[in-house]
Amino acid sequence: MHDSRLLTEARLDRFITERLKPALYRDTVALTAEVWSAPGEPVTFAEATAQQYSPFSIGTAWGRPWSTSWFRVRGVVPQAWRELAEGADAAVRIELVFDLGFDGGQSGFQSEGLVWGLDGVPIKAISPFNAAVVVPMDAHGRVDVFVEAAANPDVGSDWSFTPTTIGDPATAGDQPTYVMRQMDIALFDVNVYELVSDMEVLRGLMRELAPTSPRRAQILAALERALDVLDPHAVSATAAAGRAELAEVLARPASASAHVLHAVGHAHIDSAWLWPVRETIRKCARTFSNVIVLMDANPDFTFACSSAQQLSWMKEYYPALFEKIREKVRGGQFIPVGGMWVESDTNLPGSEAMARQFIAGKRFFIEEFGVDNEEVWLPDSFGYSGALPQIVAAAGSKWFLTQKISWNETNVMPHHTFQWEGIDGTRVFTHFPPVDKYNSDLCAPDIHHAERNFRDHGRATMSLLPYGYGDGGGGPTREMVSIVERTTSLEGSPRVMHSSPRAFFTAAQQEYPDADVWSGEMYLELHRGTYTSQLATKQGNRRSEHLLREAELWAATAAVQGAHAYPYDRLEKLWHLVLLQQFHDILPGSSIAWVHQDAERNYAYIAGELEELIATSLRQLAGDGERTLIFNAAPHERNGVLALSASENSERPEADGSTASRDETGFILQNDALFVRIDERGLVVELIDLASGRDAIPPGEVGNLFQLHRDTPTQWDAWDIDRHYRHVYTDLTAVDSIALGDDGCSVVVERSFGQSHLVQTISLSSGSGQLDLTIELDWHETQKLLKLAFPLDVHADRFSSEIQFGHIERATHTNTSWDVARYETSAHRWIHAGEPEFGVAIVNDSTYGYDVTRQERSGGGAFTLARLSIVRAAVFPDPNQDQGRHTLRVGVVVGADIQDAVEAGYRINLDERHVSGAAVNAVDPLFSIDNSGIVIETVKLAEDRSGDVVVRLYESLGRRSTATLDAAFGFDEVVATDLLERATASGAGPALSVSGASVSLSLRPFQLVTLRFAVGRS
Ligand SMILES: [Zn+2]
Repeated sequence: MHDSRLLTEARLDRFITERLKPALYRDTVALTAEVWSAPGEPVTFAEATAQQYSPFSIGTAWGRPWSTSWFRVRGVVPQAWRELAEGADAAVRIELVFDLGFDGGQSGFQSEGLVWGLDGVPIKAISPFNAAVVVPMDAHGRVDVFVEAAANPDVGSDWSFTPTTIGDPATAGDQPTYVMRQMDIALFDVNVYELVSDMEVLRGLMRELAPTSPRRAQILAALERALDVLDPHAVSATAAAGRAELAEVLARPASASAHVLHAVGHAHIDSAWLWPVRETIRKCARTFSNVIVLMDANPDFTFACSSAQQLSWMKEYYPALFEKIREKVRGGQFIPVGGMWVESDTNLPGSEAMARQFIAGKRFFIEEFGVDNEEVWLPDSFGYSGALPQIVAAAGSKWFLTQKISWNETNVMPHHTFQWEGIDGTRVFTHFPPVDKYNSDLCAPDIHHAERNFRDHGRATMSLLPYGYGDGGGGPTREMVSIVERTTSLEGSPRVMHSSPRAFFTAAQQEYPDADVWSGEMYLELHRGTYTSQLATKQGNRRSEHLLREAELWAATAAVQGAHAYPYDRLEKLWHLVLLQQFHDILPGSSIAWVHQDAERNYAYIAGELEELIATSLRQLAGDGERTLIFNAAPHERNGVLALSASENSERPEADGSTASRDETGFILQNDALFVRIDERGLVVELIDLASGRDAIPPGEVGNLFQLHRDTPTQWDAWDIDRHYRHVYTDLTAVDSIALGDDGCSVVVERSFGQSHLVQTISLSSGSGQLDLTIELDWHETQKLLKLAFPLDVHADRFSSEIQFGHIERATHTNTSWDVARYETSAHRWIHAGEPEFGVAIVNDSTYGYDVTRQERSGGGAFTLARLSIVRAAVFPDPNQDQGRHTLRVGVVVGADIQDAVEAGYRINLDERHVSGAAVNAVDPLFSIDNSGIVIETVKLAEDRSGDVVVRLYESLGRRSTATLDAAFGFDEVVATDLLERATASGAGPALSVSGASVSLSLRPFQLVTLRFAVGRS
């Protein structure tokens, strides 16, 4: 047969575009509109509808960036249309159709609207590719609705990463952004719509099949027959005949071995990113309104929503919509998933905060919907901490989903379905959707890619397929649902079926119970700049986490010891705000300027509230008298004050004995533990541990060296540090001045470079082997990365980094492509490199990014070069990222083992508090433990507000341990619980036995334990 395939395909394309799609609406009549533009930030429906509206005509420009315009839209549906729509076969539907001035780009990255009924209840959103709305009309066919239109600008969805000032309302300008193109009542032709769906599904499938495939030829033949029977001048009248030609090829069932795709509707709505949090609240309302409408029309359609925070916003700001959501949750269509407060970053949140993401999230889902999630849903975070499997299991969950690792730029993960094992050995059944995206539109290339890409064929037969416009919202559309209906069983296609995460995971685990294991972190080989970008946001997080620890500890201590009221409501509110800022574009520093301004303001508010709560508790504990107490909130004794307690100043050493002096070669800092020589350039040339006599600085090297790198990533500016950053840099060795500090025990160095200036104070921690560096930085660089280098005379194949509830080891070498790709890594409060008898830890109060490498050592061997990433200056999406003043602290602990690192990490983040005017001479700790390797992370009262006391602790050194925990209060019972403070099944928790006020514990390496002490029951 002669081959006319390409000609016929071209004919098909033109017919669909030029004849079919314009025939989707048989006719339109214009609506009339009036407008009121809100002068400032968004207002409520009641406020908006009480304003004076002025006439508005189609073709008019509207909406300065970030503004909101309300349109009152009215019209009358022609009588003849109503009769058609009410007819027995109802082949038409009456819709309102809008074009707010859509730019053809992605949904969620441009203008969006929400249609409201006069009763103040949202009806449906107007989104790009989803701009039709069915609205109620009165008996005379009159429609009368409000449209809340958001002039959200496109901050850069062309992904050219061009710097723009539009991400800050102060600099975004005031010119109208959009031109209103359409506001119509339209007569929608159902048959034509179904025909378009048939043809597009078949066309998409056909193009995925080999040109030599018989099925492909048969589909094309059917499509050509349909083109012949369709009259281009009477599409509506001939649509049914066209569909009839396609029925047979559409009815052929899928092959028995076709891959099964569990399709789950989704809208990955970023809680802030290229828009502020306030806009996300409206994005959620718009998207969820779309979804509810789709559910009403399609009872099999399902939608998964992951963030408790987003639903909590609906409850607060859109109660009528929230009630509809509740109803759809009960019906099984709207599926709360993930069990987290937000889809947080997982590299940067501290131990307790990571746990609280699950505690707050799961509590919300359980209390509001009666849903106890068993899956974690994190499609888009930037790498996954090795602590997560244990935290997930401790939250009562057992499955994990992400797809972001498909963005790795170097290595390909070997599995899509596997067991993920954390640092403590806990395993969770994990899945990466092989479609490699969380916002598929279900086009044929996507679903066939998912089948072809799946790496576990032969052992597993199914994967999960999240679909729907995401990031900026929009969600699934009726076109996507129509694709699912047609590909449930279609020869040549993977099988696509409406499903839920729970149904998928249950079936997937059942068929593949012995899935292979991936151990340790799932490091994302991309977005390594997110450990460092937006320093002030990161400091706000770190500070908030430690203030929350103190606030809960001292409030719980005061409540137990003195029956003071525990500030449940305020703590919960503050936790929620901290958890929100940990969203995967806020804490990582990848949002527009507006978002980070909001974050910094929130952190200031949080700090103010927590300082007040802490001061109140300390006052209650101290009483009123003449003494001075020192409170130690750290989990280890310090300066004679027991962990979690307070005592008088009396046991402190008179002076810490550290001295600073100057000689002909520079400066000397010295105490009982360290001898430090600093040269005239402010560089550390000797760093001698007096106990061992070892110098931590390798021969010929210098420490405390600031290095300024060119930092021009090829794409994803705030997100990425590209490896080529190492090629071009300057050592900042010149000083403006160097002198002994006024206190007589420090050295102060000032340096200027570029447009920036820094003052560094170098001193020794009292009585310990810790070199303290306080850095006051006035930073005005562009596309630069400031590193602080410490070469360490330590021969180490691996180095340790603190993560949640433990630490992880990473290679210092670059033997494999996986090691090479880990050229910038994240850590919490400390990193450590050591030989069996000697190590060095570097601790910090602000920093998360590091690189640690091995270097050739003068005189033989290798040394370890540890460098902290201090600050960056990316230009997209915030063109002024990190400009201005910053203060941060770093400590170098010489002769440290892991336990020293753990202790120093807490210490530098938890200053002692001095309280004068105290009546008592001590405040006993609520808990004390006799094994310093087991760390008390949290002391608080129970979430259920029963007054029970909860303590969370973990084994921090990676070794099997026993300990006795003493409680300083009477209790009726103690049980091991999950994170939600529910008693764990017997055998699942730690081995523990109780004797009086003492609890004996036996812990696995890195085991996380929550104990609940029941009080006041008898
Ligand atoms: Zn995201």
